[in-house]
Amino acid sequence: MPLPSVKLFGARQCKAKAKRTGSQCLNPSAYGMPTCRYHGARKKVLCGKDHPNFIHGQASLAAKREYNAAAVRLRDLEEEMHVLNMTSAKLTPGRKPKRV
Ligand SMILES: [Zn+2]
Repeated sequence: MPLPSVKLFGARQCKAKAKRTGSQCLNPSAYGMPTCRYHGARKKVLCGKDHPNFIHGQASLAAKREYNAAAVRLRDLEEEMHVLNMTSAKLTPGRKPKRV
């Protein structure tokens, strides 16, 4: 017997059916979904600009890769300048950027 919300208030019923008996699930479907929470009702996970916490994109994975590539290039240039004695300045302190 369906739940009261399905029976009395016309909530949509879950579309999932049991493999063995073929009977339909009695739970109400999740909001905006054809199935209930037990049968895989999941909304799409929003990514990138569509995500509600997206602010500016400066810390996105693509942006981080771009910053890392630029840091590696700068570090390489700095080391080559020291090898060729083009500068007497000290190397930039801190750890070297990882090569990805
Ligand atoms: Zn269900």
